[in-house]
Formats: sequence, structure tokens, C-alpha cells
Amino acid sequence: MTDPATTLESTITCPHCGHSKTEVMPTDACQWFYECDDCQTLLRPKPGDCCVFCSYGSMPCPPIQADRGCCETQTNGH
Ligand SMILES: [Zn+2]
Repeated sequence: MTDPATTLESTITCPHCGHSKTEVMPTDACQWFYECDDCQTLLRPKPGDCCVFCSYGSMPCPPIQADRGCCETQTNGH
């Protein structure tokens, strides 16, 4: 199910301390929370973004890359 062109690594940059770390994104779920490795701030998606990778990562999450929309934007995804 995974598109081979999809990039699964995204570098999250903490907006509080500027610390950045490359994380591997889950392909089957959105990550709503991310704790900064450095300052332990719990990051949440910005309004309109579906996950922390879309808000703070160098790459948006896989569903967005594949133009499938994300869990938040699907009205009847289940
Ligand atoms: Zn931080």
C-alpha cells in the first residue's frame, strides 16, 4: 500500500528550542503529538494541519504526499 515515492523520513524542528531530529513517519496513522528530544516540549499540529510532521517536519506525512488527504480531512474514512 505504500507508494515507493513516498518519503518516510521527516526532520522535525522544534519551534521552541530549534532542536531538529529526523524521525520515521508512520504510514498508517497520523502523529498528533511529538515530544522534543531536547526541551521535552509536547508539540501539537498547527490549526489546519493534520499531524506534527505537516506542521514542523521537513516533509509532510505520507497521506499528504500521496495526495490522499489525511485522517483529519477525510469525512468518512472509517
Ligand atoms: Zn525543543
